[in-house]
Order: sequence, then structure tokens, then C-alpha cells
Amino acid sequence: MAEPESTVINTDVKQKDPSKALVIAVTTRAIFNLEEEHKLYLEKGKEEYARHQQANQDKPLPPGTAFTFIQAVQYVNKMILESNPAEDELFDILVLSNNSPESGVRIVNSAKHYGLEISKFCFVSDKDSTQYLKSHGVKLFLSADRADVCNALRRGVSAALVFQQEVQTPSTPLRVVFDGDAVLFSDETDQVFQEQGLERAVEYERAMEAVPMGEGPLKAFAMHLGKMRKKFSQEKSPIRTYLVTARSGRDMGIRAIKTLREWGLAIDEAFFMDGAPKGPILAQIQPHIFFDDRLHNIQGAQDVGVPSAWVPSCC
Ligand SMILES: [Mg+2]
Repeated sequence: MAEPESTVINTDVKQKDPSKALVIAVTTRAIFNLEEEHKLYLEKGKEEYARHQQANQDKPLPPGTAFTFIQAVQYVNKMILESNPAEDELFDILVLSNNSPESGVRIVNSAKHYGLEISKFCFVSDKDSTQYLKSHGVKLFLSADRADVCNALRRGVSAALVFQQEVQTPSTPLRVVFDGDAVLFSDETDQVFQEQGLERAVEYERAMEAVPMGEGPLKAFAMHLGKMRKKFSQEKSPIRTYLVTARSGRDMGIRAIKTLREWGLAIDEAFFMDGAPKGPILAQIQPHIFFDDRLHNIQGAQDVGVPSAWVPSCC
């Protein structure tokens, strides 16, 4: 018998209006630590994996890299509803999984165990599960599978890859850090820098100062997040957003700031690192998630326990 293409389990979490909600999709390996189980899957196959998951269905999975981000997002929902119980512009979390519904019971039980408000669990058997992202109105997709992330980016959905890592549990409010080039912004200046060096990149920026930069892969999500951020004053906001870029403020800061202004994207704090490592400043900010396109920056963040998400530019 052919497997069903997809099974969607709606939970008892109050369903949100998908046209208004900021939908975030995470895969099971991004939100939970399934490394041992994934190894079993790769080495022993699907059936053995399913048997293991069914036998352990009441044993909660340990948190994964995106777990604290999702928890902080729930905190924002709580704050929004406290200030306006009728508000319908909320975060909505859905879990996307290649598990069969039977082996997915452990996933659902784990989410319940931690009190995660997941509105939908989608158990899909297709190779490319990202085809469901657009129909569910997903604005951010986090996965531990590179092919997934590339497929999502190709579909025009903001997406990033998480690796299993040690995570310090940051306190609220929700703090999100974005890199600039090739994340919020397009990679046009990065390309000049790669091909012609720093001096030419600075010249390029000066010549283009009045022209806003192109959109990067995470711009759409950042704009949605910024819209939510604007519901609150800076002091009372349960969301804080940051730009941490390798650009120097003196030579390459103006165009970045002008672009954000042109987009209407308010960023709470911006750090122009002038090529310095990002780890120390990230350790101070303690974000729930940090997006960057450079693996050495991801590594630097991981080294200080900051949950990191890689935005590959080479899909
Ligand atoms: Mg970059």
C-alpha cells in the first residue's frame, strides 16, 4: 500500500489566522536533539528507526538547537496577548517532519512534555517536504538538512540550517541577531569584496551610497519580525533585533543603515565589527538565534553557546 503523501495533525493549540500569523516551520531535528535516532535511521534504516521511536514514544527527546528560539517566540505571543487579548498577529509554529505519523508520536509527546505550543505537525513522506511551506504561509524555515534549506530558499522562503550544538539558555526577551551581507542584504558587495578586494568594495559602497542594497534571503522574515517589534515601545518590547556585520561602520556602515531605513526595518542595535570575530559580542547579546552566511561566524557563535543558523549562499 502506498504511503499517504502527508498527514497533518492539528493540535488543540488555538489555531491562528494564517494570513495574519507569522508562521515559523521547524523540522524535528532542528527543534529536538535526534542525533542518535538519526544515526540509527541512516545505519539501520527506516523500519528500525520507526520501531525505536515507537518503543520510546513516552520518553521525551532532549531539546535541539532551535528549541529555545521557539520557546522565546511563545513568550512573545504571551506578551502580545497580555497587552491585547484580541490580537491575531501572532507567531504560529508548525513542525515539519519526514517521520511517518506512527514514529512521529514521540515528537508530538515531546512537544507536549515541554509545553510547546505547536499548532500543526506535518508528517510528510515526500523527498522535498518544502513544497508545503508556501501553502502554509511559512515565513521562516529552520532545518537540520541542507537540501531542505536550499529547496526552501529556492522557493523564496527565508530559511536557515541549524547544526546540533551546545546551547546556553538565554533569558527573555526574544533576541534575534542578523548578519548583513548575504543574509539581510544581497551579496552584491560581498561579491565585489571576494573578487576585487576590500579597497574596491569600499569604493563600490561609496559610489552606491544612495542606492539601497538588494534583498537578502532573510529580509522577508526580518520585515515580519520588525512589524511585530513595532507593536511595542523599545523599553517594553518582548522582541529585540540586532545587526552584527563584518562591515566597518566608518567605510561601509552608511549604506547598510540607509537601506534599513529605506525598508522601514527598525533594528534595536547594530554592531559594525570591521572584520573582528563576532563570538565575543554574541556572547554578550545572548541571542536565541543568530543568522549568518559564513561558517566561521557560525563556528564562533557555537563556541560561545549561541544557537546559530547558517544561511547558505551556495545552494
Ligand atoms: Mg555575510
